[in-house]
Amino acid sequence: MKRKINIQLLGIATLAIVITLLLTVAICYQLFINQVVDDLRIQAHVICRMAYSEDLVRELAETPVNIEQDGLRVTLISEQGEVLYDTGENEKLMSNHSDRPEVKEALAQGEGWEVRKSATRDKNTFYYAMKTEGGEVLRVSQEAGSILRIFTAALPSIGIIMLFIFAVCAIITHMLTNSLLRPIKDVTAHLENQEDIVTYEELQPLIDTIQKQNASLLASVKIRQDFTANVSHELKTPLTSISGYAELIENGMVADGEDITRFAKEIHKNANRLLTLINDIIRLSELDSDETEEVFEKINLYDIVETCVSMLQLNAEKHHVEISMNGEAAYVYSTRQMMEELVFNLCDNAIRYNKENGKVEATVWNRSGKVILTVKDDGIGIPREHQDRIFERFYRVDKGRSKSTGGTGLGLAIVKHILSKHNAKLEMESEAGRGTQIRILF
Ligand code: ADP
Repeated sequence: MKRKINIQLLGIATLAIVITLLLTVAICYQLFINQVVDDLRIQAHVICRMAYSEDLVRELAETPVNIEQDGLRVTLISEQGEVLYDTGENEKLMSNHSDRPEVKEALAQGEGWEVRKSATRDKNTFYYAMKTEGGEVLRVSQEAGSILRIFTAALPSIGIIMLFIFAVCAIITHMLTNSLLRPIKDVTAHLENQEDIVTYEELQPLIDTIQKQNASLLASVKIRQDFTANVSHELKTPLTSISGYAELIENGMVADGEDITRFAKEIHKNANRLLTLINDIIRLSELDSDETEEVFEKINLYDIVETCVSMLQLNAEKHHVEISMNGEAAYVYSTRQMMEELVFNLCDNAIRYNKENGKVEATVWNRSGKVILTVKDDGIGIPREHQDRIFERFYRVDKGRSKSTGGTGLGLAIVKHILSKHNAKLEMESEAGRGTQIRILF
């Protein structure tokens, strides 16, 4: 970027230098031409004066004056265009000059000038012609070669000046680029502590985005680390139990058949717990990864709730809880598996965190273009301070109760994931000791 800005600025500087130079040369050339013509005019007038006061024109013809040394040529032309006298050439050999523009102009208006290639000498020449009192035309001319020579002589100085300007531009460009890029460099260097950065207004949105991304990246790294630690811890407890009971049996520490049945039951329970945990962890990581492409289809949520409720009937009876359902056919775009997981997790929680003779009601309705699923219980409720956190992985209000009822602490995390895949909204109303109502709007 620095190189690019440098090159572009230098390019602009070079272009500016060249254009300035060309314009200067053009203006100087024009001024020079004017100056030469002015000089020629003065010289012509002087010669004319001298010639007429002292009758010198004829004399000049007889005794050629060496004016040519100054690059000046004088020609006297009759009214008819015949060359009477020329300081440089033999006038006898010169053609009629009445067709020369400066001569024509001089005859018509008293004076005239032109720059053109001389027919006699084949060189670019300045001509100035004036009409004398005697009616003849006095023409003074100078070859343009002398002008070119001046420019050639000036070239080295022009070159040096150009180089000097270029060098100054290069230094300024370098400094400018550095000061332009400094805020950007600062941003890169101090991205973490955003208050310290003074930068361009235009960069602020980018900085904000990067900082936001950084923060969420850090958060997700932290969540992952916590998750790994939690998973290890959660897996360790049942495994330790299994290992302990197995060791007791192995060492023959079991007195009778009743004990062995009890120990086997414990091993079985803990192994099941491990399986449930692992299943939930696998499911979460599946929902986490974007690679698993689920094919969404039109699904009747009412059917799903019906199946879940009848599946959980036995479980509810065990907890002395009454589970029922209500509503109408309502269709959502999803997968059967995800909808079953959603309804199952919500209803299962409503049963497990309920009271003796408590009630659970699941309903499905269509309301103003939305499908609304509600799971309501009159169980133990969730204290306000925990309500925001229960969707976190492994977060439980009462760890003992969750574990004793077969909870993994991952159910609501899975629910949250499923909802985010459907852009569905969750509303929760809960009061400790009175019950919980969770409403999901598709
Ligand atoms: P768990 O497997 O422990 O039930 P969840 O993720 O399903 O894990 O729920 C997290 C926590 O939220 C539970 O441990 C429980 O404390 C609380 N909770 C969830 N649903 C209810 C409910 N219907 N009534 C009261 N507490 C609930």
